Amino acid sequence: MILSSHSPIPWFDDFLGLAYRFYDLRMNVVPLFSEKKQANDLWRATVNWWLDHSIKIRFVESSDSYWFIMGADSEHPQSNISFFKKLQKSKNYERFKKGHDGEAYLRLGSYSDQYLKDVKKNAPCDCGHAAEDHDKNDNDACLYEICSCKKFESFQVNLLKKKKTVTNIVYLDEKNIKDDPLAWNCLNVNQYSKLK
Ligand SMILES: [Zn+2]
Ligand SMILES: [Zn+2]
Repeated sequence: MILSSHSPIPWFDDFLGLAYRFYDLRMNVVPLFSEKKQANDLWRATVNWWLDHSIKIRFVESSDSYWFIMGADSEHPQSNISFFKKLQKSKNYERFKKGHDGEAYLRLGSYSDQYLKDVKKNAPCDCGHAAEDHDKNDNDACLYEICSCKKFESFQVNLLKKKKTVTNIVYLDEKNIKDDPLAWNCLNVNQYSKLK
């Protein structure tokens, strides 16, 4: 956690990244943690007390990357934090950008790597072939000759059930963030002040 004298609310970037989920009433934005307990604890300590209408998400674009920035007013201001993370743009990022329609559900989730021994036969590998098409006697390599996959790899994302509705989502270019206090504060504290 980064505590800064410039900001009354501490900035927090100790999470893995974001997942997006599209098959829901609203699209989901999901900060990911390696342990479910971390996600639960953070929800209870912080996000639970956020006032839905005050939650702001900012995506600040900077060539191939973007900053995810999120903050809100809290019923428990003393334990409040704001999230940020610099991430690579992805297909899912673009899909969310085009499709969110001004609203999203915020949830927290956990992310874990999965190996051949952890999954059912029909679980898909990152290579696109199913678990049963991988050979546990050959280091879990894919059996398809045309495939270069040397080891079954997949991952699982578990979402916490609790969610908040976010209706204040704005995309900005890094060049024009000065009029947005949350984005400006974030980059000032977490980027510009470190470059000096
Ligand atoms: Zn594979
Ligand atoms: Zn394969």
